[in-house]
Amino acid sequence: MEIKELAKVEQAGLFGTLTQLGHEQVVFCYDEATGLKSIIAIHNTTLGPALGGTRMWNYASEQDALTDVLRLSRGMTFKAAISGLNLGGGKAVIIGDARTMKTEAFLRRFGKFVNSLNGKYITAEDVNMKTSDMEYIHMETNHVTGLPESMGGGGDPSPVTAYGTYVGMKASAKKQYGTDSLNGKRIMVQGVGQVGMHLVEYLVKENAKVFISDISEEKVKALAKKHGVTMVNQDDVYSMDVDIYAPCALGATINDDTIPQLKCSIIAGAANNQLKDEVKHGYMLIDRSITYAPDFLINAGGLINVYNEYLGNYNRERVFAHADKIYDTCMKVFRLAEKEKINNQEAAIRVAEERIEAIGRVRIPR
Ligand code: NAD
Repeated sequence: MEIKELAKVEQAGLFGTLTQLGHEQVVFCYDEATGLKSIIAIHNTTLGPALGGTRMWNYASEQDALTDVLRLSRGMTFKAAISGLNLGGGKAVIIGDARTMKTEAFLRRFGKFVNSLNGKYITAEDVNMKTSDMEYIHMETNHVTGLPESMGGGGDPSPVTAYGTYVGMKASAKKQYGTDSLNGKRIMVQGVGQVGMHLVEYLVKENAKVFISDISEEKVKALAKKHGVTMVNQDDVYSMDVDIYAPCALGATINDDTIPQLKCSIIAGAANNQLKDEVKHGYMLIDRSITYAPDFLINAGGLINVYNEYLGNYNRERVFAHADKIYDTCMKVFRLAEKEKINNQEAAIRVAEERIEAIGRVRIPR
């Protein structure tokens, strides 16, 4: 079932929704003393414990928080599965203002809730959660990743996410142009935060002609100066005459309004949920002969990083070697999409589902 159908599903009631989305367990956590309100969603643990970050957000309503955690945890199942990880999909949201509510007691209380799941859910950083927050959570549970390197963790996952995105972009180039060289390619990177700025480095090294845009003028100016890349006005991003568009800021940028403006032949970026409507917009891109690199496949570097941290004996080289596999998986997805006449996002979901099904059968005791 596609994400766009979530709204419809909500009308099915809570258990109806869980049944249709395929969730195993949803835990509502409340602590009066600290004001903690959190929802932990475990989507699927066929392949292993459900790993996914904790997002803190001032949601407009509890329903919005629930919708977000259900959608995100389901996405994690596919991301882990397609990346060959022995992990299931989960996610947590904390409702509230991250600037004012995150005290030591608040975070440790959350850690205690995570611990109560006995490792069925493993948490990590996400929006508005920092490595230092993970340290507090870690005081109450071992089921946490994204710890600083000084504590045996993998540190910042963003460089690995950027590398995986770069690898996925090269695979897309191979499909679209017959060569994976990005030399001389005109590439528009939207959003030069943690991932975008590292991606730009890889592209510049390969002599691509890079354009950048960000709502933070400070960031674009600094990066433009460092690498000699070209700054672009936010309003001009979609209509830029480029070969590749790399969304690395926010989701749903590929939609009814932007697709008609696009001149690129490849979309490959790190942002989550880039297609506003996975089906409709996936096919609109095919109609325009644009190769779309499925977001949850090529931005899996961060998850690969925390997975390796979870395995123990963290080794950066092993992590990058694993992220390299994104190239071959992209090629597999592109081939399947072509054969089955489906869009690349659908093909990626199919590859993920097939692995869950096959490994699920292996794990059934005989
Ligand atoms: P970030 O917050 O460090 O960077 C995002 C950048 O986008 C910021 O510089 C911000 O100013 C900019 N931005 C926001 N709105 C914008 C707009 N309308 N136009 C242009 N720029 C805008 O985040 P990040 O860690 O670099 O992640 C980037 C994207 O990749 C996010 O969608 C994130 O969910 C996704 N992602 C990140 C990771 C990771 O390891 N960090 C892993 C998987 C997916």
